Amino acid sequence: MRKAFICPSKYVQGEDELLNLGYFVGTFGKSALLIAHPDDVARVKGKLVATAKKYGVSFVESGFVGECSREEVVRLQEAAKANNCDCTVGLGGGKAIDTAKCVAQGGPLIIVPTIAATDAPTSHSAVLYTPDGAFDDYAYFKQSPSIVMIDTSIIAAAPVRFLVSGMGDALSTYFEARATAASYSNVNAGLPCGFREGLCGPAKGTKTAMALAELCYQTLLEDGTKAKAACESKTVTPALENIIEANILLSGLGFESGGLAGAHAIHDGLTMLKGTHHHYHGEKVAFGTISQLVLENAPTKELKEVLEFCLQVGLPVCLADIGVDSISDQELLAVAEKACIPEESIHSMPFSITVEGVAAAIKTADKLGRDYKAMKG
Ligand SMILES: [Zn+2]
Repeated sequence: MRKAFICPSKYVQGEDELLNLGYFVGTFGKSALLIAHPDDVARVKGKLVATAKKYGVSFVESGFVGECSREEVVRLQEAAKANNCDCTVGLGGGKAIDTAKCVAQGGPLIIVPTIAATDAPTSHSAVLYTPDGAFDDYAYFKQSPSIVMIDTSIIAAAPVRFLVSGMGDALSTYFEARATAASYSNVNAGLPCGFREGLCGPAKGTKTAMALAELCYQTLLEDGTKAKAACESKTVTPALENIIEANILLSGLGFESGGLAGAHAIHDGLTMLKGTHHHYHGEKVAFGTISQLVLENAPTKELKEVLEFCLQVGLPVCLADIGVDSISDQELLAVAEKACIPEESIHSMPFSITVEGVAAAIKTADKLGRDYKAMKG
């Protein structure tokens, strides 16, 4: 059986770690194209200036419009060329990071997340949007980021909702990897690798990825509540460090090399409901996870453990928690249909999937979540 595992060349995490950014830029050359939203640059300006000075490197800023579109990528690639940049730095949230991946095209790339809201920073893929914000396409690159750098002081100072949302994204990782392994489905780590061109075959997950996914879930259960309290107090504690690692590194490696399944597909289906648009990716993934557990009839003990965890850290457990106060059977079927389109990861579940079955799982997950919440008062 062909298997694949993919990861960044280096992951580094620590308090005030951003002060070492200049050192890593120096391993590639003298200058870096900095892709970051002006607000994020403003938040870390002092550290950027200090590290540039200390290591004798420069950051070329050419603005960032806030959307990862083909037009913006071409504009930034031209800026990198015109300024002879030796590497690309993507600093900020998901859009700046994805744009940096597209600009670097698998070349020297340093990713600096300023929030821990998703597990995207470590991956070798990005999501492209049109300039007005509609979904365009997925992109896969030949290499993962060269360096993923996390400054824990910056994450601790960011709004706590981002950290909790990241825990929602990380919550699905183990359950989706488990389903993918049970069905011997392919994982993203095998892409692109000439797969689409028929040059070499697709790949399954490794035992390594499964172990990381499991550790991700255990870390959430152990340190989630404590990490949230630390972030609310704007302080860095060992529990917060563990959750940052779980949200970004363990979940990132776990999903990319372990596979996605029901939770993310149900998330994608839910995005067609207007009410969910004000809720973050990880918040919807948390409810998608509960729905997947119902779909696969996971043990009651496990379902309760997940519901309890969500309530404790403040993740959604029912549709109302993600902005959907009422839903018709017709809308529910439409959500399930979207979750079940042929290219969706839901087909990595280890049994055949029907639209009606997925709709029933979402409806039941909503009821179980509401009941559990009411019981806990
Ligand atoms: Zn996700």
